[in-house]
Amino acid sequence: NIIETITLHNGVEIPQLGFGVFKVENGSQTVESVKKALAVGYRSIDTAAIYKNEEGVGQAIKESGIPREELFITSKVWNTDQGYESTLQAYEASLERLGLDYLDLYLIHWPGQDKYIETWKALETLYKEGRVRAIGVSNFHIHHLENLLANTDIKPVVNQIELHPRLSQLEIREFCKKHEIKVEAWGPLGQGHLLDEPTINHLAKKHNKSAAQVLIRWHLQHGTIAIPKSITPSRIESNAQVFDFELSLDEMNKIDALNLNERYGSNPDEVK
Ligand code: NAD
Repeated sequence: NIIETITLHNGVEIPQLGFGVFKVENGSQTVESVKKALAVGYRSIDTAAIYKNEEGVGQAIKESGIPREELFITSKVWNTDQGYESTLQAYEASLERLGLDYLDLYLIHWPGQDKYIETWKALETLYKEGRVRAIGVSNFHIHHLENLLANTDIKPVVNQIELHPRLSQLEIREFCKKHEIKVEAWGPLGQGHLLDEPTINHLAKKHNKSAAQVLIRWHLQHGTIAIPKSITPSRIESNAQVFDFELSLDEMNKIDALNLNERYGSNPDEVK
């Protein structure tokens, strides 16, 4: 199972398919899920301080025996830690819980109200000091990105946003493309809501694949980075078996047409 990579604007490569661990319980559930993911070929793990499972992710990494440089580990600074000094501290605390001495990608989890410029300056410091390989944002609307680009030195390598066929985020994708910011999809399966969608299931049957595999394939063919989550070993494995089939242009268009601008998560403007 060879997962393809995407080159970020600073030259760092990120696997196009990663493994997300939102709502995975710290302890054995996280350790076992992440170890399974690593065993079946995932090399990118997406966690966050607020998921409270960084210790479990770290333990799985250690137990896997995979060399650190072959992995791509992402975490995120939580809203209440925003601000310059507190972000620097939050980064150290995440590293400590993960048992790592650097992250591959550190993100601002949500823009919040008025501190994300200061928070970003802390990420820039970490990056300039070589403490983190790449820095990015999450849940940024275009207006947040415009403000960030106008008031800081380094542009984010990614914007991790809710993205799936019911929320296709065309304007943000277009804006990010123009600014060489890669889009990373959270909730790539619509947090489960899209798994019984008829068009998706029709295409799944046609390709002899699962609905989840069709959804993941749609992301990959759009050039998006996707980080689906599962705690079921067989699904962790099958979600990564998506490099042996292709959706036609017509099939991609049919999935694109499912857009309803419908969110399952929060609107970033409403998260304090
Ligand atoms: P998702 O779209 O990955 O859906 C996950 C759910 O789909 C699972 O709980 C499981 O029930 C189901 N599922 C997965 N594979 C399946 C399969 N093959 N068959 C049937 N059901 C299957 O939703 P998510 O976990 O919310 O998003 C993925 C990751 O994105 C998270 O784990 C997290 O790392 C990240 N995330 C980030 C943010 C953010 O604010 N930056 C927010 C939410 C999630």
